[in-house]
Parts: sequence; C-alpha cells; structure tokens
Amino acid sequence: MLAYLDHHATTPCDPAVVAAMAPWWGEQFANPASRLYRPALEAAAAIEAAAAELHQGLAAPSGAQVVFTSGATEANNLALKGLAEAALSSGNPRRRLVSVVSEHHAVLDVLRYLERHGFALTLLPIDAQGLLNPADLQAALDPGAGGPVLAVSVMAANNEIGTIAPLAQLAPLVHAAGALLHVDGAQAVGHIPLAMEAWGIDLLSLSGHKLYGPKGIGALLVAPGVQVAPQLQGGGQQGGLRPGTLPVPLIVGLAAALKQALADREGRALRLAALRDQLWTGLQALGGLTLNGPPPGPQRLPHNLSVTAGGVDGTRLHQLLRRQIAVSSGSACSQGSASHVLAALGRTRAEAAATVRFGLGRSTTAQQVEQALRAMADALDQASNRSAASRPER
Ligand SMILES: *Cc1c(COP(=O)(O)O)cnc(C)c1O
Repeated sequence: MLAYLDHHATTPCDPAVVAAMAPWWGEQFANPASRLYRPALEAAAAIEAAAAELHQGLAAPSGAQVVFTSGATEANNLALKGLAEAALSSGNPRRRLVSVVSEHHAVLDVLRYLERHGFALTLLPIDAQGLLNPADLQAALDPGAGGPVLAVSVMAANNEIGTIAPLAQLAPLVHAAGALLHVDGAQAVGHIPLAMEAWGIDLLSLSGHKLYGPKGIGALLVAPGVQVAPQLQGGGQQGGLRPGTLPVPLIVGLAAALKQALADREGRALRLAALRDQLWTGLQALGGLTLNGPPPGPQRLPHNLSVTAGGVDGTRLHQLLRRQIAVSSGSACSQGSASHVLAALGRTRAEAAATVRFGLGRSTTAQQVEQALRAMADALDQASNRSAASRPER
C-alpha cells in the first residue's frame, strides 16, 4: 500500500473532525446571519464558539478579531493587501514591505502584486539552513533603506525544508520600527508551540487542511487596532471584513481540528520526531544524500525531512518512488517549476528535481518509515544506474 508521507501538502481530515461537522451539513443548515429563528441562532453560536476556540488556542490578544477565510492563501491576501489598502486610504505614509525569499507563493505573489501597485518590496536572504538573519531584518527596517516599512511577513515554519523562524526574536525589531508583523502559520499551527500575543504577532494566517481539518477553510487573526481593508464586498458578514455566508460545517470542523491538534501536539511531535530521526538515520546509511534545512532539532519541524540525491535523475527517482510512497519533490504548489526555496539554499535545478520532501503525520508508523527507506534504496539504485556515468559512487 502507498505510504502517505506528504503531510505538508495536506493532511487527512480526522474522523473526529468529520463527526463534529456532520450535523451542520444537514439538520442544522440554517444561515447564521438569519437571526430571527432558533436554528440560525444556534448556527451563529457555533460560529462564535469556533472563533473563541481559535482565539484561545492561538493565545491571541484580547480583542483580536478572528476572520474566517477559504484558507491560508486567502488569509495572506487579506492580510497583506488589506494592510496596504488601509494604509493608502488612511494617509499612512508607510510604503515598504519586507519579507523573506523562502516564503510560500501565497505570500510572495501577493507581495509582488503590491510591488506592481506602488509598494517597495525587500526580500531578505536565508542562510544554508533556511534561517533569516535578524541583523538583515534590522537593516531592512531602517527607514534610510528606502522609507518607513508598513509590514513584515515571515512564515512560522517552512513548508519545504521545515525551518522554524525565531518569531519571538523578530517581533521586537519589527515593532521598534513601527511596522506590523504578519505570520503565515499554515505549517506551524497545531504542530509547534505558537502564541500570537506573547510572540508579538499582529496578523496570523492559518489553514484547516494542514492541521487535520477540512479543506476550504482557514482564518486570519487580526490584533486589535490593526487596520485591514476588506478585499471582498458584500453582505457585511464578519464585520464587513470578509463578507459572504459563513460555511458553518467547515468552521466547526476547523475549530474541532485545532482543538484536537493542540491536545495531541506535544505527544505527536515527540513521536514523529523519533520516526523522522529513524528515517534520517536510515537515509544517511544509503549515502549520497544531502539534508536541506536545519539538522533535526529545535529549528526544524519535528515531522519534516528534505533530502537531495546529488547526481541522480530526479524525474526518474520520483517515478520510481511514487509506486511506494507519496512524497513531494519540492512544493506541491509549484507545478513543475524549480523550488525557489531550494534555489535560495544554492541547489541547482537538477538537484531540486532530485529532492525528496517527507512530511510525516498523525497516522505515520515505523513500518511506513521502513517502507520509505526500502523505496528510497531501490529507487536510488535504479535511478543512479540509468543516469549519467559522471555521478558519484553510491
Ligand atoms: C499550504 C500553505 C498555504 C496555502 O494554504 P491554503 O489553505 O491551501 O490556501 C500557505 N502558506 C503555507 C506555508 C502553506 O503551507
């Protein structure tokens, strides 16, 4: 059976989450905005309870707004375009945005869009482990570097190489410069500790399907006093910040998934780190593989591993692997184009193609890790035999 080891692309919706959603599809179908009868009020109460669950689970500051969106992509768009538009219309003179080269496309492409519309963009480099240097951020925040910065966007954890950003250390720098901190938490929420208020996060994006919840739902948490302009106009739901009839079952599912993910987070992280270490030890024994991102430890997601097979034909490698294991060759969203994250680490196009990203998850077993190691051993043998003779010994 195919071993699913691609939990950074998406996670299965947990059966308990499916059960929590069940009544809200059928019997309890009322529109939470129709406040004149009991079923609608019950739906509205379910939405409020879900928002409270997110608020509490993410340790948001009191008065923070929970805005439900279709996912992290939409949350990032709302956060960054919303901040930019609010600054333009309120006469706030800040016109610079700062982020990092290794961000997800759902941040980078939004920032590039804003760059085409008059905002200046600075993308900070990463080191060999995928880490941002706080001194580079400090320098970019200097108004002398091109004007005052409106916002800084840094992902909490990287979806390809698992690097965990030192957010609590970065926020004071951002705030000292009068800027706001947006965090794409899609790969972090429910997986590693994250505290919105204590860490000084002003806007936090998350996604249901990355934490064993349903697809098509996410949220943006906005700290009190942060001005965000809506990017949709309509019926005034969610304080007008993101109008549209609320998908009650998905919202109930998101909250249930977060609650469950936070409840088993520590135990899951310990268990998956041990399996990840077993995988990495076995892969090292095969030889010829380079680790991408930080070594297993506190700077890396416990369930992530990314390795590059130098000199191996990546297309062939993945053709062989796909019979045994579901893994990614980089970002699932990049549709064949070489990963910008691996490029930033100095990997060539060919090396990026010969990269295997493992994402372990709640259902991953030691047997699946053994299966992955056998699949890698076989695939590396075969892909190596058929590729150029210039390849190093394995
Ligand atoms: C998956 C992912 C997204 C996009 O989330 P969707 O909910 O699928 O839109 C954004 N950022 C990161 C880091 C991700 O891993």
